[in-house]
Amino acid sequence: MSESIIGQERLAQIALSADDLARYSRHLLLPELKAEGQLRIKAARVLCIGAGGLGSPAALYLAAAGVGKIGLVDFDRVDISNLQRQILYGTKDVGRKKLEVASERIHDTNPRVDVVSYDCRFTSENAQEIIAPYDVIIDGSDNFPTRYLSNDVCVFARKPNIYGSVSRFEGQASVFAPHLGGPCYRCLFPEPPPPGAAPNCAEAGVLGVLPGIIGLVQATEALKLIVGVGEPLVGRFLIFDALKMNFRDFKLRRDAECPVCGQHPTIFRPIDYERFCGAQTASAASESADAVPSVSAKELKRKMDSREMLTLVDVREPWEYGIAQITGSRLIPLGELEKRLKELPREGILVIQCHSGARSEQGAKLLQQAGFGNVYNLEGGIEAWSRDVDPTVPRY
Ligand SMILES: [Zn+2]
Repeated sequence: MSESIIGQERLAQIALSADDLARYSRHLLLPELKAEGQLRIKAARVLCIGAGGLGSPAALYLAAAGVGKIGLVDFDRVDISNLQRQILYGTKDVGRKKLEVASERIHDTNPRVDVVSYDCRFTSENAQEIIAPYDVIIDGSDNFPTRYLSNDVCVFARKPNIYGSVSRFEGQASVFAPHLGGPCYRCLFPEPPPPGAAPNCAEAGVLGVLPGIIGLVQATEALKLIVGVGEPLVGRFLIFDALKMNFRDFKLRRDAECPVCGQHPTIFRPIDYERFCGAQTASAASESADAVPSVSAKELKRKMDSREMLTLVDVREPWEYGIAQITGSRLIPLGELEKRLKELPREGILVIQCHSGARSEQGAKLLQQAGFGNVYNLEGGIEAWSRDVDPTVPRY
């Protein structure tokens, strides 16, 4: 059982009208909510970054549930290809501004909701000002610069950031809130994937119902935080697989070295996220002179099949290993590698592997410096393995 993020003092000015009592009667029947829970929902202010696949169901259901104020950030117009999943919009709306349509649609569902439209991009310049009036932020964006930005400003402002993402047949969700005891997005993903390594919906496709499911997981988490019931997804990472039809969740840990929420933070205000997320290839290229040799996923498979003397070392974190692993790999998280060198054989070749290839390159360099001769980096990490060798290995 958790505490509500809406302070008691916020309820003083608010009452439920006769119309409210009728409209929300199914909520009022729940002993966990009753009138006080509904008052908290009415007092709550929720911001949705993006009014697309995730933001559509989240905003619509939160409005129906009676959230007092819903902010929407989006600059797009409705395109016919949106209609397969963005249920705020209809065929007649194609070509119109999304926020105009969203506001009408939400008011049709519940005229009492105060809808605030931010018809702009969510940027380093405006993000802190936009989130300031809100209690909780739902990140419905589909790109890495916005995810890091949304994470960072929420950490700075001590507001829960409800994360969701979807691709193909899989979805993920978590609540990032260091001030409530969990990690932030950067604790999990200190570095963005190389550009192009993690395609968005427009590139990889997505089953239309999937953002509905994940967007409503986000809305559910928002309502739980607002009312103060249940166990929030703080410190847990949820993965939904539509093909297998299962939800799995993994415990997350805070990274003491995290540059925004760690013990010695180094980032205190928004940075240039486009540059941060585009910088991976540039820095990789500039370091190529002293780069460690690499193998592709397919080459690695061939080496394993031909039974070369090979040790595959996975330098990711245990929670990541729990989600997906390459059979036969040995887990030694990057942070422990230096003190566990004795566990590694000096004969044969060592292949170092992580999620997308950046951490393993660091690990491989460390091993080279420690005198290991035959060290290779698995290019593209387990992502490439799943893509090119074994698609049954889950991607995250
Ligand atoms: Zn962090």
